[in-house]
Amino acid sequence: LVTRMRPFTSTIFAEMTALANRTGAVNLGQGFPDTDGPAGMLAVAKESIDAGLNQYPPGPGMPVLRQAIAEHRARFGTAYDPDTEILVTVGATEAIAASLLALVEPGDEVVLVEPYYDSYAASVALSGATRRTVGLVEEPGTGRLGLDTEALRAAIGPRTRAVLLNTPHNPTGTVFNRAELAEVARLCVEHDLVAITDEVYEHLVFDDREHVPLATLPGMAERTVTISGAGKTFSCTGWKIGWVCAPAALVDAVRAAKQFLTFVGGAPFQPAVAHALREELPWVAELRASLQDKRSRLAEGLTAAGFAVRPSEGTYFITADVRPLGFADGAELCRELPGRIGVAGVPVQVFTDHPDRWRHLVRFAFCKRDEVLDEAVARLHRLS
Ligand code: PMP
Ligand code: GLN
Repeated sequence: LVTRMRPFTSTIFAEMTALANRTGAVNLGQGFPDTDGPAGMLAVAKESIDAGLNQYPPGPGMPVLRQAIAEHRARFGTAYDPDTEILVTVGATEAIAASLLALVEPGDEVVLVEPYYDSYAASVALSGATRRTVGLVEEPGTGRLGLDTEALRAAIGPRTRAVLLNTPHNPTGTVFNRAELAEVARLCVEHDLVAITDEVYEHLVFDDREHVPLATLPGMAERTVTISGAGKTFSCTGWKIGWVCAPAALVDAVRAAKQFLTFVGGAPFQPAVAHALREELPWVAELRASLQDKRSRLAEGLTAAGFAVRPSEGTYFITADVRPLGFADGAELCRELPGRIGVAGVPVQVFTDHPDRWRHLVRFAFCKRDEVLDEAVARLHRLS
């Protein structure tokens, strides 16, 4: 069957998690935490079910959650009207899909940073637009995968309608800095582009780095659709509560698409996430510190096992170069690893349009208990 979804039949996460389960491997492939979010938040969800919040919530999301999202965005320095400028979605995934469906047309071009989160290419395809990718480049000395602003400029043409940017960045762990974001902002203003930003890891930044929302830069608030969600911030990836913040006209368009994708979702989780945004940020600060330690723990373990790790500045993920171990292809290695030594990772090349350029890198998730990370590292030592 030839359809526009043909290239997207199975996600790498489904494939690698199935392989990990089949082989009993330690799963550092799919990024989800193996401990629960704040107890207070879980309690509110249970109370909400008992209180009968089990029917369709309002289309834009429950007022209590939209209010809490507005207060939370204010901490990052942006102001949104909870009644007209915020929309609750079924995870960030739906927010991204609905934003593209609403804001770009067949024939338009959307610029993506490569490697890109896998749903971006699929959502651009659903919208009928074409993607143009701009590869991150390794900075000399540090190995940090930074934004190639020259390549970004070159990727923008007369048909470009939108730029989709993810910071902190999955799969590399790069946190884009002010200089990089200022260049993105300048180009968006100069070419009158819409910016769609995926900030689901906004709280998960390490070593005192700052997460800078693109919408806070000059000229950007009026043209930026800011997307985030509860899954990563509060370790509840299965709840699928996400949101869109943007000027009212943009939110109206996204809502028009969203209402025919899922209409609404997650009724009893919405008050729980509202509670978490208001009361559980101290818990999130501990999560961030713990993830920072886990990042360092896995980085050291991977290095000792013979990988060349790239710096991870945030998120759940670190990337590792497999060439020092004598392997040429990360995808081959990832298909072999679970059966051979009992560890699962994800090849970075599947998040790109240029697999040859990225075939040396594998992504490992460190959002796992220390003993799980240690077991994975012990097994990875058997590779050399
Ligand atoms: N964007 C990025 C960068 C992600 O890593 C993920 C999933 N972990 C998502 C979006 C999807 O978020 P959600 O589960 O809220 O749909
Ligand atoms: N976002 C998670 C990751 O990047 C998993 C999401 C998924 O399974 N679709 O690993």
